[in-house]
Amino acid sequence: MARHRDAVCRLCRREGQKLFLKGLRCFTEKCAIEKRNFVPGQHGQSRRPKVAGYGLQLREKQKVKRTYGLLERQFRTYFEKAVRAKGPTGENLIITLERRLDNVVWRAGLASSRSQARQLVLHGHVRINGKKVNIPSYLVTVGEEVAIKEKMHQNAMVLEARNVAQSQSAVPWLEQDREQFKAKVVALPKREDVQTPPINEQLIVELYSK
Ligand code: SF4
Repeated sequence: MARHRDAVCRLCRREGQKLFLKGLRCFTEKCAIEKRNFVPGQHGQSRRPKVAGYGLQLREKQKVKRTYGLLERQFRTYFEKAVRAKGPTGENLIITLERRLDNVVWRAGLASSRSQARQLVLHGHVRINGKKVNIPSYLVTVGEEVAIKEKMHQNAMVLEARNVAQSQSAVPWLEQDREQFKAKVVALPKREDVQTPPINEQLIVELYSK
């Protein structure tokens, strides 16, 4: 996940939507979108500028890129792979991003945010079918079991993730076992399974097709 050194809530405020970048806080009234949903910066409190055409496409791409914590070049690579794959490009793109290991750890409720999930993966705390995998961009496949290593089960960060998970809806393509800190991939994600944040992937396809 790309390093963003500024306050991450600014990213949500820029897009005017919750991107769920900060764990438990995103589900409380402390969320910056709840308190001050205007564009960050000196003139942010003036009316949110209307965007259309290119601006709209750009904002959609930025939103997805920031949601999954990717750099521009990484995002572009995913897009190019989505173009080469069979089926609608936009759908391929979203499904591939969902299959990233850091995203799966978060969706499964084993971390309270994607960035925390990425940290767990990078530090070697995540197992796939019992084997250590420390690559956040690893794409999970059906039948794989993603788990947090046993030594981390009492870790405060991992335990807090359980509270956050209770605020999240169940993920149809994952069989979650939160007590055992694991989840099994029972199907590949479908486009309709990805509802947060709302994404119009066609705008991204149009942006990159220029
Ligand atoms: Fe901050 Fe999370 Fe709210 Fe976004 S959704 S503004 S990251 S608290």
